[in-house]
Amino acid sequence: MKLTFLGSGACFYPKLHNTSAYFTYNNNLILLDCGETVYERLLQCEDIASYGQIYVVLTHLHADHVGSLGSLLSYCTCVLKKRIYVIYPNEQVCKLLSLLGIADDFYYYKKTLGNELEGLSVIPVKVSHASDMECFGYEIQCGKSHIYYSGDASDIPEEILVKFKSGEIQTIHQDTSTHESNSSSHMYVGKLEKKIPFEERKRIVCMHLDSDCHKELEEKGFSTIEAFG
Ligand SMILES: [Zn+2]
Ligand SMILES: [Zn+2]
Repeated sequence: MKLTFLGSGACFYPKLHNTSAYFTYNNNLILLDCGETVYERLLQCEDIASYGQIYVVLTHLHADHVGSLGSLLSYCTCVLKKRIYVIYPNEQVCKLLSLLGIADDFYYYKKTLGNELEGLSVIPVKVSHASDMECFGYEIQCGKSHIYYSGDASDIPEEILVKFKSGEIQTIHQDTSTHESNSSSHMYVGKLEKKIPFEERKRIVCMHLDSDCHKELEEKGFSTIEAFG
């Protein structure tokens, strides 16, 4: 399974566009987050009408992760005549969409992807990021491919770290910040260095970057993303 990134930036670093990625599975498209810059970049990158179904899997409801979801749903319903899926474990997303004028029948809501796509599992894992909102990372598995996508998170859940160290999870895509702060909303790179020994760092792909820190991260042994466009 290959993730294609539409952006790799943090909310306050729009130069790298909002962090979001997608992959395809049996002619379905699975999009991870839909921040402000995502709708436009997705349409530049993909002929989304050609897919059987589209699933938008959300990590949390900050604007840099859902900011263009309303427009994507309107476009799919009104232009493509396609009702797509919104996946997020907390029903509050429906309230948010309703306030944006997106009617319930513009999309299918599901808390988790469940068995919707046979052979693909996308499992939410609670992460610490914001005190007033439920935030999730996702463990994604199909065939021999098994990865973790953190969303915004100040840490890596212990169960994920254990699976990573044993090799069961091959790659972690991790929110990484180069700014140390007391707010602990994002994973500070110094903390990440303490958790991950140098020889394992290639399998950590840093995303949601808050500066042009690619070189610095690569020198520390981590991987970074070449975003689309
Ligand atoms: Zn964010
Ligand atoms: Zn956030």
